[in-house]
Order: sequence, then C-alpha cells, then structure tokens
Amino acid sequence: MQLGIVGLPNVGKSTLFNAITRAGAEAANYPFCTIDPNVGVVEVPDPRLDKLAEMVNPQRVVPTVTQFVDIAGLVRGASKGEGLGNKFLSHIREVDAIVHVVRCFRDDNVAHVEGSVGPTRDIETINMELILADMETLERRLDRSRKLLKTNDKKVAAEVELLERIYAALDAGKPIRGLGLNPEEAAIIKDANFLTAKPVLYAANVGEEDLPDGKGNPFVEEVKRIAAAENSEVIVVCAKIEAEIAELDDDEKAEFLADLGLEESGLDKLIRAGYRLLGLMTFFTAGPQEVKAWTIKRGTKAPQAAGKIHSDIERGFIRAEVVSYDDLMAAGSQLAAREKGLVRLEGKDYVMQDGDVVYFRFNV
Ligand code: GDP
Repeated sequence: MQLGIVGLPNVGKSTLFNAITRAGAEAANYPFCTIDPNVGVVEVPDPRLDKLAEMVNPQRVVPTVTQFVDIAGLVRGASKGEGLGNKFLSHIREVDAIVHVVRCFRDDNVAHVEGSVGPTRDIETINMELILADMETLERRLDRSRKLLKTNDKKVAAEVELLERIYAALDAGKPIRGLGLNPEEAAIIKDANFLTAKPVLYAANVGEEDLPDGKGNPFVEEVKRIAAAENSEVIVVCAKIEAEIAELDDDEKAEFLADLGLEESGLDKLIRAGYRLLGLMTFFTAGPQEVKAWTIKRGTKAPQAAGKIHSDIERGFIRAEVVSYDDLMAAGSQLAAREKGLVRLEGKDYVMQDGDVVYFRFNV
C-alpha cells in the first residue's frame, strides 16, 4: 500500500519527501520495499508500541511502516501530455491514496508556477488534470459497455447507467471520491483504477511563522473549505521545518517541537493520517523476544491477520487470544489481564480491532 505525494511544482513536495526519507526507516530492514529513490519507507509513529515495550521489556521493538511515493511533474495540461504528463498520471494510478501538497507559504524567493499563491486555483488545477484523465479512461470503458448493451443483460445496463452518471459528474468538475458511491458501485469501477476515486488528504504547506496550526493564514482556510466539501482531511505542515526536524535525534526533536508549540511533528501527523486514509490499522504481538506492530486492512479477520505473521499460522489457525490495548494497560500486565478475564478467546470469524494485542494458537 502506497501514498502518492502530488501537487503543482514548487509547492514543497520534494522538501516533504526528503523529510520522509531522512526520518525514514532503514531500507535494509524492509526487503519487501523496492529500492526506488522515489519511494520513502517510514515508521508509523505509535505511542502504544512504546508503552507495550515498557510493560513487556522485550529484546526487540518493531514498528510498522508505510510507504510514500514522490510523484513530481504534474502540471497544468498533464492530461493532454504536457510536461511528462501521462507518465506521471500513470504513477498516480499505481498508488492507493493521494497526499495533495498545497502551497500556503509566502516566499518571494520561491517562484509560483501560476504567479501567486492561490490554493483554490491550485487544487482545482490538479483536480482538473485528474478528472480529464479519468474522463478519457471512462470514455473507452463506456464504449465497450455500450456495445454489450444489445445483449439485454441487466448487469450491463446497470453498469452503463453508473458510468454515465459518473461521466456527468466528472464533466461538472466533481471527483469520483466525492460521489458517495455505494460498495456495489465502487466494486463495478474498481478495476478501472480511476485517479479521482482514490482517497485524498491535503497537506497545507505553511511557513514557519504559521506554526503550530496555520491559524490566521487565509490560504489554510481555503484548503480546509475545499477539503470539508469533499470530506477529506487537512494536515498543516511546514515542509522546510520538517526536513530540519528529521535530522534530529529523539531528545533534540522533542525540545525543538516544544519550542514551536507542537506536541508532535506535522510529519508524524501526516504519516498517521495517511495510514488511516489507506484503510489500515494495527495489531500487536507482545512477547519477551519481540514487541511488534502489524499492519492489516480494516475488517481483516483473525486467521488472515495471523497470516501476516506466517502462512503456517493462518493455515493451522485454532484460536486467537486477544486483549485490547486499553484493557491490557488498565490491567497493568499480561498476567493481570489474564487473571481478570480480559483476555478473550476468539475464533476464525473474529474481526480484528485496532490495538488488539494478540497471541495466535495454531497447529503445526
Ligand atoms: P516541489 O517542486 O513541489 O517538489 O517543491 P520543493 O520541495 O522543491 O520546494 C520548492 C522551494 O520551496 C524550495 O526552494 C523549498 O526550499 C521551498 N519551500 C518548501 N517548503 C517551504 C516552506 O514551508 N516554507 C518556505 N519558505 N519555503 C519552502
């Protein structure tokens, strides 16, 4: 699962991406990640993991990670092949969700491609390129489906009706993600991989003077208004500062953040919001050797979660011993949680919950 960083030129994308790679996890520890300079692997900050480690005192603590892809080069006209337009649009097609960086900082030394800072116009420019690309994909798909209409198949008729409805919305400038499609409708268009169907979060890149939260910066308000209208989240960051913070060790970082009036860095907020946006959640395993955070999609059942650890555990799954993070903390120790009856035995239909601390029983 990957998050793609997009935005107009000179809005701070590479600065933010550099912060991510500098803060990033040691690539060697994550062999599943391709060695691609445009992909940054970063740990998902999770205070629960630290608390668990304090309680269990294991030899090793392993956080979960998420991946960001730097997708530079999106410009006005990309859908018509301007710049390296089509190539970049195809990169966006490959990611699962989008972080749209919007310039909200004023700096006369940094040129703006449109001549001035203007989040509404900038967001519309990017959205319009994605919409135009989707309309092109959709036209091809509609052609195909309409040809099948003759067969009188109800499914085909429903698909054509849906595609036409989506086309009209795109034509009116509305991204697919805001159309409130139901799960059946979303399933019909899933394989088309529409760009505007991907979930988005906005990163409002402010100047240092606007930290901690961008209050009083009218550009941030603009971004928030647009995001609210489409149910998207906004994270306020100062990419330049984040790149500096990423160079610091933990103690220096805490001090630096306190000076800025921040409890956590904008980058940490962004990473966590991105993780949620991807529809991911975390469960933990906690033993004397290792306390580890694992990533699963929301809605994953216990055996499939076990399969993340090892396919043998999924295959031989018997039961999961589960205690919620909060219950475990309240009990004070794993033993106490067990004695208080807070550890549940769950079967193969159990849907994992965020923060579950689990021990899987399985047959070898
Ligand atoms: P990209 O083209 O979107 O990747 O933009 P860059 O990350 O290369 O940034 C363009 C310029 O804006 C660089 O000179 C950055 O130093 C500058 N920049 C990025 N973020 C900030 C910020 O938060 N404040 C200020 N003042 N400048 C920034």
